[in-house]
Amino acid sequence: LVSRKKKPENTIIEVNGVRIGDGNQSFIVGPCAVESYEQTAAVAEQAVKQGIKILRGGAFKPRTSPYDFQGLGLEGLKILRKVGDEYGLAIISEITNPADIELALDYVDIIQIGARNMQNFDLLKAAGAVRKPVLLKRGLAATIDEFVNAAEYIISQGNDQIILCERGIRTYERATRNTLDISAVPILKQETHLPVFVDVTHSTGRRDLLVPTAKAALAIGADGVMAEVHPDPAVALSDSAQQMDFDQFDNFMKELKPLVKVN
Ligand code: PEP
Ligand code: MN
Repeated sequence: LVSRKKKPENTIIEVNGVRIGDGNQSFIVGPCAVESYEQTAAVAEQAVKQGIKILRGGAFKPRTSPYDFQGLGLEGLKILRKVGDEYGLAIISEITNPADIELALDYVDIIQIGARNMQNFDLLKAAGAVRKPVLLKRGLAATIDEFVNAAEYIISQGNDQIILCERGIRTYERATRNTLDISAVPILKQETHLPVFVDVTHSTGRRDLLVPTAKAALAIGADGVMAEVHPDPAVALSDSAQQMDFDQFDNFMKELKPLVKVN
């Protein structure tokens, strides 16, 4: 059902006035994790200043180590909703447990399914059973075919509001945290009718590569870019090495805005 052969025209996902998939390019920004109301609101203010309409933030964090910050959970979703309402932003946040999908409907405008859960088939089915857009991230070691099949799990349950997100895959290369598979973007655009985003933060794991990789994503035809922004990355509870501070974010948007395609 996700195949462009079945449906030649683009699927468009309308969120907070942004039409994702219709040829416009947009941004999703926000902190790696929601740490407090003040931290989230500070980032929201910067996003609004840049004309961005969708705020991200992790409440349920899938951390490699069980001893690392696991996120604020439901409290994090409540903070996101409050900030979203106050600043006129749509909210996207990762849900890790199929049982939490229903709960999330009250708080988020887009459900994120993370790389580590790309083949959590019960989670995919649960997200497919609701009427809420889903941003599905490519698995850490997933082929494009496996990625497309994961999206098929969602759409097969009746939900076609899916954004695919390339976020880097694991290779032998250690210069970056993951290897951004930039060619996945046009392949996914050709083979499916779904919008495709590129997450430059998790694919590179390097602050100095955010601008050039985001430029590449826009140039190659991605529908948008996701990036992490934090008021003070040095004290961030997760992904301290690659979140942008506000000055870096200003520069990031200054570099990218002239390249964005607007219908
Ligand atoms: C995230 O976007 O917060 C995240 C954990 O990313 P990924 O699932 O791509 O690792
Ligand atoms: Mn992160």
